[in-house]
Amino acid sequence: MRFSALRILKEGLTGNKGWTPHWRDASPKPEYDVVIIGGGGHGLSTAYYLAKEHGITNVAVLEKGYLGGGNIGRNTTIVRANYGLHGNSEFYSLSLKLWEGLEQDLNYNVMMSQRGVINLCHSDGQRDAFARRGNAMRNQGDDAILLDREGVRRELPYLDFEQTRFPIYGGLYHKRGGSARHDAVAWGYARGADQRGVDLIQNCEVIGIDIENGKVTGVQTSRGPIRAKKVAMVTAGRSSQVAAMAGMRLPIESHILQAFVTEGLKPMIDHVVTFGMGHFYISQSDKGGLVFGGDLDFYASYAARGNLPMAEHVMEAGMTLMPAIAKAKVLRSWGGIMDMSPDGSPIIDKTHIDGLYVNCGWCYGGFKAVPASGFTFSHLIAQDRPHEAAARHRLDRFRTGRGLMDEEGTGAQHNLH
Ligand SMILES: Cc1cc2nc3c(=O)[nH]c(=O)nc-3n(C[C@H](O)[C@H](O)[C@H](O)COP(=O)(O)OP(=O)(O)OC[C@H]3O[C@@H](n4cnc5c(N)ncnc54)[C@H](O)[C@@H]3O)c2cc1C
Repeated sequence: MRFSALRILKEGLTGNKGWTPHWRDASPKPEYDVVIIGGGGHGLSTAYYLAKEHGITNVAVLEKGYLGGGNIGRNTTIVRANYGLHGNSEFYSLSLKLWEGLEQDLNYNVMMSQRGVINLCHSDGQRDAFARRGNAMRNQGDDAILLDREGVRRELPYLDFEQTRFPIYGGLYHKRGGSARHDAVAWGYARGADQRGVDLIQNCEVIGIDIENGKVTGVQTSRGPIRAKKVAMVTAGRSSQVAAMAGMRLPIESHILQAFVTEGLKPMIDHVVTFGMGHFYISQSDKGGLVFGGDLDFYASYAARGNLPMAEHVMEAGMTLMPAIAKAKVLRSWGGIMDMSPDGSPIIDKTHIDGLYVNCGWCYGGFKAVPASGFTFSHLIAQDRPHEAAARHRLDRFRTGRGLMDEEGTGAQHNLH
């Protein structure tokens, strides 16, 4: 079933009886060429590109809950390519290019909205750092404009320019950045993978990884054993637990990140705005809700909910920057489990176990990475060599110290990224 304007018209005129489910409810087969553990954004995009780019369709995605029920459906949906360091810069640049063609590629409306991302700066040092970052973005072929204070005022007139604690010096404007609808991305990739023959198996928890003579042979699941030539672990916040099934200890800590959404308001915020110094960022959804968040909760946990001190801190920061939102009522808040890597950058690599691959370390930025992650990880799985855009995302960099990508200059401490 393809979506088109004509199709909507036809269904509208015939009682909407012709729509079919987006994907089959597959049951596990005894054996697959590739088993992907985790039906989040990265697992589903990996399955999609394995089938589409490499013709590997004897693939199962095993999801312990329902597709899109993890962080892919819990994030604040910001998409951008404003990374400064070699390794990340080309990877996120590739991802944004894939985002730009994603709806046509998937024949699915993921509500990609390139409304622009503006990072605010509040000191000379921060402005210098943004100038350097902007230059790196432009060197990579992406867009960046360094705004002065008046430039920010033109774009974001509703900010409090009089507050003295964090005076606004300027901002880095990335026009091609923006947002997309998070769960539609999961559904779009799921539908595309299913159409190409991939089995999407929900309510199927992996509880063991089978290894013989240093080679992976399959997985144990809550729905029985499944043999596999290759197994890919793509479980974001649960990565350490799943890797432990293969006897591995990953350089990952799981931390909580919260998000908040208000009642629907008339359009007031046209961009994504970040206030790094105060730990706050915000955008407005197409339904009108203000969607915002801040920093990690600062302790390791597997609870997908946050605590009040961080909620208060985020609200305070928001009020400092834009007092106009004071009366908006917060309707919902939630938390997700972040797979924090020591340098704040992801891992896309083989492991020391033959046929076992790992994709994790997305920290709080893995939504924007979903297209490039699936694209490059599928390349690694299919060809057993890294895609050049992800060649630096090696697992061993934390052991050797070579090639660390400490994007935010916070050092190798998970909870400072
Ligand atoms: C509040 C919040 C805001 C965020 N904002 C942004 C943002 O604005 N921009 C951005 O780029 N990123 C953002 N992120 C980060 C982004 O959401 C994550 O980095 C990304 O979604 C993680 O990858 P995933 O989609 O594959 O994870 P998930 O959707 O969590 O997928 C992992 C899946 O693995 C499954 N699983 C785990 N263990 C097993 C098992 N044993 N067997 C089978 N299945 C298993 C889980 O059930 C889950 O569905 C945010 C995250 C949060 C929580």
